[in-house]
Amino acid sequence: MTYVIQPPAQPSVPVVGTEARFPVHRIYCVGRNYAAHAREMGSDPSREPPFFFCKPADAVTSAANGETLQLPYPAETQNYHYEVEMVVALAKGGSNIAPEDALSHVFGYGIGLDMTRRDLQGRMKDGGRPWEIGKAFEQSAPMAAIYPVSAVGHPENAEIWLHVNGIEKQRGNINDLIWPVADVISYLSRFFTLQPGDLIMTGTPEGVGPVVAGDTLRGHIEGLGELQVQII
Ligand code: MN
Repeated sequence: MTYVIQPPAQPSVPVVGTEARFPVHRIYCVGRNYAAHAREMGSDPSREPPFFFCKPADAVTSAANGETLQLPYPAETQNYHYEVEMVVALAKGGSNIAPEDALSHVFGYGIGLDMTRRDLQGRMKDGGRPWEIGKAFEQSAPMAAIYPVSAVGHPENAEIWLHVNGIEKQRGNINDLIWPVADVISYLSRFFTLQPGDLIMTGTPEGVGPVVAGDTLRGHIEGLGELQVQII
């Protein structure tokens, strides 16, 4: 095969315990999947169907294991927010996946940030317009290395938290997901043919807020390690 221009590099994320990397196909993000965060964003957290938006695969960015990721403050925003989230990495795809079968499609789990230009997202929301300029920009999906299911199983009762400059800003538990991982995979697979390499960002607990250049973010999920980011 030849191409008329150089094909883009395959986006990928490191995997704990191996030099081999996880190749990213798509990034699906779940909106408002913790009740307290739904309330802080002005929504009713009752169990209405989940909704989704996407980031491009090349929005992922990762540091080498254990190092702090340097993240440039993005253009055209005055309100750049963190959202700490558990990330699900799929090894198997499919359509109409039954909830009871869904977890067998998972390769592993990790921690990521759904970085958001909140002012731009807000403007798009108010106008009933798509969220891309608020959500789907370059380096908007920083992630730590993925832990394979073979090493950590499927997280259930795991605390998730985020510190900014050493101060706790977000805390929740994977138990609190309105739509648990199996339900998210099953529901998504009704609308999209899921593929190996898909990532799902499962939503953020309450406490989202802004960061500026110089801030240091430290996210943690019990059993899934840490993500350290410095805004530059
Ligand atoms: Mn999010």
